[in-house]
Amino acid sequence: MAEPSKIFLSPPHMSGEEQKYINEAFQTNWIAPLGPNVDAFEKELAEYAGVRDAAAVSSGTAAIHLALRLLDVQQGDTVFCSSLTFVASANPILYQGAEPVFIDSEPDSWNMSPDALERAIVRETTAGKRPKAVIIVNLYGQSAKMNELLAICNHYNVPVIEDAAESLGAEYQGRKSGTFGKFGVYSFNGNKIITTSGGGMLVSNDEEALQRARFLATQARDPAAHYQHSQIGNNYRMSNILAGVGRAQLKVLDERIKARQEVFKRYKEALGNIDGITFMPELQNTLHNRWLTTLTIDSEMLGLTPIDIINALADKNIEARPVWKPLHLQPLFKGAVYFSHTSTRSVSEELFNTGICLPSGSNLTEEQQERVIESVLGVCQTRKNLILQKG
Ligand SMILES: *Cc1c(COP(=O)(O)O)cnc(C)c1O
Repeated sequence: MAEPSKIFLSPPHMSGEEQKYINEAFQTNWIAPLGPNVDAFEKELAEYAGVRDAAAVSSGTAAIHLALRLLDVQQGDTVFCSSLTFVASANPILYQGAEPVFIDSEPDSWNMSPDALERAIVRETTAGKRPKAVIIVNLYGQSAKMNELLAICNHYNVPVIEDAAESLGAEYQGRKSGTFGKFGVYSFNGNKIITTSGGGMLVSNDEEALQRARFLATQARDPAAHYQHSQIGNNYRMSNILAGVGRAQLKVLDERIKARQEVFKRYKEALGNIDGITFMPELQNTLHNRWLTTLTIDSEMLGLTPIDIINALADKNIEARPVWKPLHLQPLFKGAVYFSHTSTRSVSEELFNTGICLPSGSNLTEEQQERVIESVLGVCQTRKNLILQKG
């Protein structure tokens, strides 16, 4: 029997219009980085998000790095960062030779715990290590509790970088995710809700700062006919061809969000009543873009671990993943300071131990999703029967 086709976690989903922008770039020979597509993509995204300005760069990671540079993060400085996230949120802290301090999640949004943040700021400030910046991540398309987090950061006068790589188009109290901090960051990596195959965007209401970001991102070239440089530069700008892909993708972003929310709804209807399965919550007054449908399982109740389910799906050629491994547990960040949600509860570790991400692409067909659902039901049922037999 032919193996069923592979179902990916979050594959690219082209609209068909991308080629038009790419052709235009070729016809006008705007192959170089920068050009009219880059300018237009920046303008269109800023408008979509409701911010004054946006700078297109080569990746979300580059955008985070530039934000840290703009906030003058240097060797030996402290930067706070959500622990439950992809490594790219914190790698740029190391690029600058600064020290990350990791902050736990809270259970309502899975994002940064205001309680842990407050304890961390008080404790680190007392130790003479007031953070230069706080990187708040909006995980899997869900905004963090921005009001509570911003109140703390503003009180201590610490600027916020919002890592909205996964939450483009999501909203918090009617405003787009990624527009709450001093800087916001989006990613157009291949697995994100829209993609340029690789790329990112730095957004802010501080147009001067973004002008400086563009300067740093193009090798920090001083205004002189000869090539003169007084500062370290990066080569981080987006290519005009890829920006064309981004423009076409941005046009369908709201459709992509709707499609992913539909995927989530179907999973929830089919699996939400199983004892031992709980879906990632949605904060009140927010719009979750459901970039990935994620759930946690009660291993005792189900007689299964997340890895059991992930392996069973892999056997059926279906890609599922555990929830991000918290950064304070990563070998790369061994020894980094970590502040848990409460003195007895580490929410990011709980989520890592119990969480699963299901295939969530906006181009996932209903038949494919049915295959995923049947497979999850199958493995739960098999285990239940085994337990019944043994009992
Ligand atoms: C994808 C991602 C990034 C990095 O974006 P790239 O464009 O791949 O560099 C940063 N943070 C989070 C939370 C991400 O998911």
